[in-house]
Amino acid sequence: MTNLWYRAKWIIAPRLKIVTQFPTHLDIELTNRCNLQCTMCRRDNTNTGIMSVDVFKNVFDGGIPDSVKLNWRGEPLMHPDLWFCIEYAKTIGVGEVAINTNGQLITEQHITDFNNAGLDWLIISVDGVTKETYEGIRKGGSFQTLLNNLVLVRKKFKGGIRIQICPQDSNIGEIEKWKEKFKPLADCLRVGKLHAMDGSISAPYSCYHPWRRLTISWDGNIYPCPADYRGIFKLGSIESGSIKKAWHSDRMNYLRNMLSTYGRSAISPCSECSTYC
Ligand code: SF4
Repeated sequence: MTNLWYRAKWIIAPRLKIVTQFPTHLDIELTNRCNLQCTMCRRDNTNTGIMSVDVFKNVFDGGIPDSVKLNWRGEPLMHPDLWFCIEYAKTIGVGEVAINTNGQLITEQHITDFNNAGLDWLIISVDGVTKETYEGIRKGGSFQTLLNNLVLVRKKFKGGIRIQICPQDSNIGEIEKWKEKFKPLADCLRVGKLHAMDGSISAPYSCYHPWRRLTISWDGNIYPCPADYRGIFKLGSIESGSIKKAWHSDRMNYLRNMLSTYGRSAISPCSECSTYC
């Protein structure tokens, strides 16, 4: 039932421009550190850190979202308290907890910890169907390690597994083969939409994100969406009740109004964003 209500809110609220009491979803960046250097990544690796457990707990002061994803610009397995954060989110009543990982660091112990903590979705990014394509995009990653880990996850992980690909010039011709190869290892496959923050790929006039979600960086800043990679549209910082305040703030409503009235071109960072949602 909760799940149906969540899905309904996700679809209906942005279409009818309804601002729900609390964001349906939060993207919480446990760390912006990463073990890889992917070609399409816009992460700033000159200023990296990890979210403290106190900041993490404060995110939920004032409301519980229907779902959270515990990463943004980094690799969540590099946070030493990832297990605590998953378990904490489940204990306080978050309906769906997910992480998106590059899959390189996963061990059998990690999977046991995911199962014990109650992780609902493990999302693994697999950006190619051959060693050459994958390792050409995911610099520093090993295709063979990834394949071994995908088999291990399929065997041992009790939650849902989503395997996804971010289409780009070097892998766009492999998508059908990619689907065939990875279908047996996942509960769901997702082929992302082509996107570019420099506006080089056209996107729809408006955007649904501001009626669905907020994004919190590792150092406790609040942003309207995960596409604001450079942190251009800061809404505030984490303190007691700040998520709800940011969600209903004049600044957030200004973004919504500009988007729905004048479209993406009227406001930054939307003017440079080609994310589809
Ligand atoms: S930056 Fe992109 S994804 Fe974020 S609110 Fe603007 S248009 Fe939507």
